[in-house]
Amino acid sequence: MQKNTIVTDVFIVGAGPSGLAAAIHLADKFKEKGEERRILLIEKGSTVGAHILSGAVIKPEVFKDLLSDEEFNKLPFDSEIISDKTVKLSENGALTLPFHPPYMNNMGNRIALLGRICKYLASIAEKKGVEIYTGFSASEVLYEDNKVVGVKTIDTGVDRHGNKLKNFQEGTSVRANIVIFAEGTCGSLTKTLIRRFNLDSGRNPQIYSLAIKELWSVPEGNIKAGRVFHTFGYPLNSNEEFGGGFIYGLKGNKAAIGLVVGLDFVDPAFDIHAAMQVWKQHPKVSGFIEGGRVLECGAKTLPEGGYLAIPKLYGDNFMIVGDSGGFVAMPALKGVHLAVASGMCAAKAAALALGKNDTSGSQLAYYEELVQGGRIRDELYPVRNFRQSFTGGMVSGTLKFGVQLVTGGSLPILGNLTTEPDNKTLKKTDEYTGKPFKERFAGKLEFDKKLTLDKVTAVFYSKANHDEEQIVHLVINDKETFTRINMREYGTPCQYFCPAEVYEVHVDREGRESLRIHAENCLHCKTCDIKSPLDGITWMTPYGGDGPEYVNM
Ligand code: SF4
Repeated sequence: MQKNTIVTDVFIVGAGPSGLAAAIHLADKFKEKGEERRILLIEKGSTVGAHILSGAVIKPEVFKDLLSDEEFNKLPFDSEIISDKTVKLSENGALTLPFHPPYMNNMGNRIALLGRICKYLASIAEKKGVEIYTGFSASEVLYEDNKVVGVKTIDTGVDRHGNKLKNFQEGTSVRANIVIFAEGTCGSLTKTLIRRFNLDSGRNPQIYSLAIKELWSVPEGNIKAGRVFHTFGYPLNSNEEFGGGFIYGLKGNKAAIGLVVGLDFVDPAFDIHAAMQVWKQHPKVSGFIEGGRVLECGAKTLPEGGYLAIPKLYGDNFMIVGDSGGFVAMPALKGVHLAVASGMCAAKAAALALGKNDTSGSQLAYYEELVQGGRIRDELYPVRNFRQSFTGGMVSGTLKFGVQLVTGGSLPILGNLTTEPDNKTLKKTDEYTGKPFKERFAGKLEFDKKLTLDKVTAVFYSKANHDEEQIVHLVINDKETFTRINMREYGTPCQYFCPAEVYEVHVDREGRESLRIHAENCLHCKTCDIKSPLDGITWMTPYGGDGPEYVNM
């Protein structure tokens, strides 16, 4: 065995709700059985929660299965929901619906800042003996005989070209009987596993949305803690863009606001960050934050494909949980409770497999049986055609979803619906016939840094930071094709869809265009990895501890 190797029974990659739930439940299982086993968890954020971003309205019941009564009662939820409204926005108006759209009634749920919940779960896991190491990036899956045997953390002390510097340090190889991939949305290692083992064979491609979120301190009286508003309509074009906004009142005169937009949009110049700033100028939204000040900003994608896009979740010595597996109930806009449930299912399967000394894929198939036999399938299967129904626009989507509500999710004649991957939906600049983005929102794209923020200011409020002495973690897969197709034919859409102004088109004196990458701004949202035409960009893990430093997102 090489130097710099650690051995553990279970290795968990990622300290989000699914990874932490898996760790806690496993520790409980081992204790129940009187087994002494090592559980090791690493997190690429500098602290637990530093890379966590979610709305978030959470269904709390699942935590009762994970935690003791005493632990559950101390969960740091922010507020109980006291009112929940859905509002249809038009450019100059707002209509509050007199009913809740199906699955959208949040009474009884809790508003939370998910980073705080994760910190709390991590403290419980550590009390139970789980070893948690933050600031470590997993960069490579280790295989032997085509089976997962562990994960390697990133080498540090290299320059931009990959040359070793004086402070070079080889990453640590962590060998484990079982690896649980809880990397979150579009996990970079999970992606390689899915490709290598064809885990998505026969499934719909996973599709995503991008959420831009801001946390505000607001004047007293702007919004009460526990009030929840979801908006749809303006500024999105219901024929081309799927999504909507959220406004959640928090304790201490704070508000969490955000815009979530499906990445299957077609306009190559569509800019979700800018659309969020336009949304904030609508009087129905600005009224909640006017006179306040922004505290934090961030962005993150979330998987929207639903039940039919969930990959095979296991193989020899590994399982995939949480957002990496695609467990989000789209009609309800919720995934945290399913992430926790999937972590618990994986923990049960891992405990059984280790007890039998058999961590093969056929044994870990029990994990998928648990997923299929419990609340995850119960919740996702009846809405399995939901998101795909809306790819043709709001009107036909609403009609199709109406049918599914009667039939338990099926669509007569049409059967199960599929989708294109998000990197195939953009139109080339000369094929896009809609109104250009800048004309569409003319007069609303000058940001005052008070109510509205430009991207660089938003990055400042995310506290994103990257060591500049390292290989650029945003890889242009084929430079010639990227220049010819992504830049010339699509107009370099990454300069618009990236919420952090990482991609800049530089024009030299002769008028030649080249791409500059400001990797230090990156918010780790993964949009470029998902949306770039022809798979133009791959997001790789940078050094551990790099990236945003969210506190309350
Ligand atoms: Fe997101 Fe990619 Fe921009 Fe980073 S570079 S913020 S992952 S779109």
